[in-house]
Amino acid sequence: MRITCIIIVTLMILPWFSCTTTPESVPLAFISSVDPHSYSRPDEVSVYHIDLFLSVDFEKKSLYGLARIHYNIHKPGAALILDIGKGLEIEAIKDDSALEAVYRFGEEDDILGRSLEIEIEEHSGFVEVHYHTNQDAAALQWLAPEQTHGKNMPFLFTQSQAILARTWIPLQDSPSVRFTYDARIVVPGGMLALMSAQNPVQKNESGEYFFQMKQSIPSYLMALAVGDLTFKELGESTGVYAEPGMLEKAVYEFAETEKMLQVASGLYGDYAWDRYDILLLPPSFPFGGMENPRLTFVTPTILAGDRSLTSLVAHELAHAWSGNLVTNATWNDFWLNEGFTVYFEYRIIEALYGYDYAEMLASISMQDLLDEIEILTSSGQLEKSSLKGQWDGLDPDEGVSPIAYDKGYFFLLRLEALAGREAFDGFLKKYFADHAFLSIDTEYFIEYARRNLSIEWSDDFIDNWVYGQGLPDDIPVVSSNRFNAVDRELKNWLTGKKPNELETENWTSHEWQHFLRQMPDSIDAKDMRQLDEVYAFSESENAEVFFLWAMQAVKANYKIAFGPIETFLMQTGRRKFVLPLFREMKKHQHTAGLAEILYHKARPNYHYVTANAVDALFVIGS
Ligand SMILES: [Zn+2]
Repeated sequence: MRITCIIIVTLMILPWFSCTTTPESVPLAFISSVDPHSYSRPDEVSVYHIDLFLSVDFEKKSLYGLARIHYNIHKPGAALILDIGKGLEIEAIKDDSALEAVYRFGEEDDILGRSLEIEIEEHSGFVEVHYHTNQDAAALQWLAPEQTHGKNMPFLFTQSQAILARTWIPLQDSPSVRFTYDARIVVPGGMLALMSAQNPVQKNESGEYFFQMKQSIPSYLMALAVGDLTFKELGESTGVYAEPGMLEKAVYEFAETEKMLQVASGLYGDYAWDRYDILLLPPSFPFGGMENPRLTFVTPTILAGDRSLTSLVAHELAHAWSGNLVTNATWNDFWLNEGFTVYFEYRIIEALYGYDYAEMLASISMQDLLDEIEILTSSGQLEKSSLKGQWDGLDPDEGVSPIAYDKGYFFLLRLEALAGREAFDGFLKKYFADHAFLSIDTEYFIEYARRNLSIEWSDDFIDNWVYGQGLPDDIPVVSSNRFNAVDRELKNWLTGKKPNELETENWTSHEWQHFLRQMPDSIDAKDMRQLDEVYAFSESENAEVFFLWAMQAVKANYKIAFGPIETFLMQTGRRKFVLPLFREMKKHQHTAGLAEILYHKARPNYHYVTANAVDALFVIGS
């Protein structure tokens, strides 16, 4: 039976979930159109809970078992439509009376995979999909023991965002659909399994683990990791998981996590996910971090030894509000996740480490944004610079760019300036409270903001910021005193001061990053060597600093750094570093050949997300 209720929204937007039979009976999404990256039709039949029973086979590199999919029917007679990605093979589908269900697949699409349409009875409640994954399942990365720190056991981790959850679980793979889940995962004895859920804190010999996620989440936050992992508490509600040999280093680096959690809750309302733990992954993890609820996944490239790169933890923590609690309804609305999170991240950093630290981060954001606009302009793709994305028919991973993150951040900074900080903080707190566990789109947000934020709204203002290309004229100006001091020293060096005479005392990793990033292209290998002799950049263990040094080394043909660059590219799979470094190497005759050889060697170490992005360079660019 279709149950409807009315949501009072004075918008031209159809909340597709007007009312459901989920335990909460609340609306779940405000979305003005269908999600172009999912075949599912949650307006007709929507998934609200999944029971997952999976075994992990490291030899076959396969997950196998079943997913029991619980749904609500909003349109009698409609089929349940799930998304099935490459690498997920269906074995059987049974209805809730254990009878074979009738099902059919749609046509395969390279990006979206295919639809799975299952016929369901009007009063039925769930289906069981029996399946296994094969080596094409792009969310899964299977690491051999030698690719881990301990080198004793293999490792498995998932990366579901944006639309890869469908490669390891049959589900409605749209961020506009939220569900709870329970899972039973069986792994080889002596290994620990972890999920984006309530987690165990120690291994058991049977290898059988149970998980529960009581808060509803979108599919891209489904996560699993299996390895030789151990746990240590950081504070009352926070802790870290890592391979045994990396644990103490991680504990030191993330020591301020509990404080961050308190600051974040103080800013925008109670933390909704009970615990906040961090899982330190092996270096092939393709991102800096992934905000899987209750258990952020992070790259070891933020272990700088001096806690200088932990703003990334603030970022992932901020996602517990922006993204995980209030979610972009489609990937075209990605800035709602990331722009808010960058804004929130800088506010946490400001509260913890002071305004001048946050100012440096804002300046980096501006630099990243200007660089991106330049790339889009020179490649004739400026249409990709509007906040509201247009990724229909394209891989939504392309939307992971400074437009969503930094242009989104500057839009919110502009709103803050217009409203005043106090009023804007009140607005954000209300926004998170009003939309907790909901997915919304850009149009809904704009209407909500117009009703709740007392500033002068004009259609031009919205068009310029949200739908317009390039940068609006009223983009906030950012300036950092600490970076200005770096600029002066850089100028001194370029005009003849020796590297060891530069005033770099008390410089943090961010000042060094700025110094390296501002170095002109005209510097040559001899200049690089002078700097290297004093500051040992080629041996830097700070991945951000080393990456920027490597980019300069490639431009300047500074061969001394090529060995460390090779080691870095072989070990690190973080796309943010790997992609631009290979792109730069391909650009120069003196490194183009080396890039080919290195990529061939390093590619097997990369997750699909990274390999997929870099592949394009070697096909199109060669
Ligand atoms: Zn983020």
